[in-house]
Amino acid sequence: MSIRESIEKIRKTIPPDVALVAATKTRAIEEIKEAIKAGIAIIGENYVQEAEKKLVLKSKVKFHCIGHLQANKIKKAVEIFDMIETVDSLKTAKEINQRCEAVSKIMPVLIEINIGKEPSKFGCMPKDAETLAKEIKFLPNLELKGLMAMAPFFDDPEKDRPYFKEMKKIFDNLKSRYNLEILSMGMSDSYRIAIQEGANMVRIGKLIFGPRK
Ligand SMILES: *Cc1c(COP(=O)(O)O)cnc(C)c1O
Repeated sequence: MSIRESIEKIRKTIPPDVALVAATKTRAIEEIKEAIKAGIAIIGENYVQEAEKKLVLKSKVKFHCIGHLQANKIKKAVEIFDMIETVDSLKTAKEINQRCEAVSKIMPVLIEINIGKEPSKFGCMPKDAETLAKEIKFLPNLELKGLMAMAPFFDDPEKDRPYFKEMKKIFDNLKSRYNLEILSMGMSDSYRIAIQEGANMVRIGKLIFGPRK
């Protein structure tokens, strides 16, 4: 199936108010161009250095940071990205704020939550999300837009449902007080379940571009 056909097929399975982010790590510029021609408006990149190589696409598509941000990459990240989905500590938030201030930029951000409490994953603990939201509100150059999560990996994506439910609960609890709009969760194998549980942004790689080489 072509990239266009894959995207059209996915589109048929998601409501129009759910944003489709193409996860483009390891994908070539030509592949991403094809996705953009088929209507992709947002790409998610995991690494600053890789995103930098794709800046020729900057005028055609929004760039979201969906990977863990190292402190020494934040300055560059602020130049490249239109949204950072992976803010998981006050330290990172403050550094983004500082770098944004220096270039008079307001950065939309999501708080990444480690919903499975997995030691191998980044993200703040679910119980710390509210405190972090409160702290981000005091940073003038960050605009808190919502929450993001990578659920644990299972062979059966149905097993992720309780984690998505838990994310929705946290989202609903913070939503009105912090003006949250975006709940970013669900990938190729799990996006349908994530949407059923309230996701309004999904990040899909494999299902659009095929298996990663
Ligand atoms: C790679 C990636 C995705 C997409 O995963 P696929 O299984 O290729 O759909 C989504 N979110 C993040 C954070 C990723 O790194």
